[in-house]
Amino acid sequence: MTQDWHAETLGVRAGSEHTEFGENSEAMFLTSSFVFENAAQAAARFGGQEPGNIYSRFTNPTVTMFQNKLAALEGAEFCVATSSGMAAILATVMGLCSAGDHVVASRSIFGTSVQLFSNILKRWGLETTFVSLTEPDEWRAAVKPNTKLFFVETPSNPLTEVCDIPLLAGIAHDAGALLAVDNCFCTPALQKPLALGADIVIHSATKYIDGQGRCLGGAVLGRRDVLEPVYGFLRTAGPTMSAFNAWVFLKGLETLHVRMAAHVQNALALATWLEQQPAVARVYYPGLPSHPQHALAMRQQSGGGAIVSFDLKGGKDAAWGLIDATRLISITANLGDAKSTITHPATTTHSRVSPEARAAAGIGDGLVRIAVGLEHIEDLKADLLLLTR
Ligand SMILES: *Cc1c(COP(=O)(O)O)cnc(C)c1O
Repeated sequence: MTQDWHAETLGVRAGSEHTEFGENSEAMFLTSSFVFENAAQAAARFGGQEPGNIYSRFTNPTVTMFQNKLAALEGAEFCVATSSGMAAILATVMGLCSAGDHVVASRSIFGTSVQLFSNILKRWGLETTFVSLTEPDEWRAAVKPNTKLFFVETPSNPLTEVCDIPLLAGIAHDAGALLAVDNCFCTPALQKPLALGADIVIHSATKYIDGQGRCLGGAVLGRRDVLEPVYGFLRTAGPTMSAFNAWVFLKGLETLHVRMAAHVQNALALATWLEQQPAVARVYYPGLPSHPQHALAMRQQSGGGAIVSFDLKGGKDAAWGLIDATRLISITANLGDAKSTITHPATTTHSRVSPEARAAAGIGDGLVRIAVGLEHIEDLKADLLLLTR
């Protein structure tokens, strides 16, 4: 039946299971372990001959409902929920790669993801080559015989660059590698990478899936045979999602489509307005016709997303001045919240990236990022008062 439902209906209804108490809202199963009827059943569960819950590091009914709902929305066969977005990226690599393997990643990924690949995973013998998100030839040239994984974020953080997912998937597959897409900025409400040819979708559920800035969580989605080792890593190493957080994310997914539509509407209006302000040198937003990959973005996404970045002519002083003069917008590096947030990437999210790498990624000192929330657009414009003064 779920096959025929529209995405909005899947968000509200898919994956739900009910106990004999007849609750309408999904139940939160706060239990670390599950009891068996007898020793034989325990043995059958542990041996894998009988399906069912054993221990919440392996499976938990609330987490399973979240996984099934998100899988329905992404059009994925299988979903593995994790304790955070970073845990989702780590679990993907730990499950699918070994020491001596090679990864090709976009240079313009989340700052912590750069750290994970270039410092931590490097110490464990995984080599990563960073290339331009928007130059397919660089991806082709970076491939080695031991390349296992391509890793991208589209649109990217904070410059909202967009890559051609079907094209990169083709290059990855020719190289015998898998393409993983961090779909955090779009969510399945705006973009479905698996349908575009990607093998794996990664989420930080902390962002739009929660939607109200409460819980940390993540997910990895794709084919079951591909992701079985990722689940194996989680079950053994332990960065699983908590049942409480899964319950919050289940509620978040119910409103995902209406929230994303409202985020996109606000973001497009703000980006259009910012482009007209004399203090602004350049606006980065895929929904604007001036965006270099606007046509591609509109083909791949059903909206520009809610992240709007812009360069101020006055550099760092102007950026910090604008941020400090806000009264409504929250000064925080988080995104995907109903509350709009403002940040200075060069000194926060990307401060641990070397100045050279930051310059190569195009993150200048005058860059400001706004994750546009659900407040009224006129109140948001009024809060950026230094631009209009
Ligand atoms: C926040 C974020 C992550 C990491 O997620 P956490 O839940 O904070 O661990 C990964 N990728 C992108 C694009 C993000 O914005």
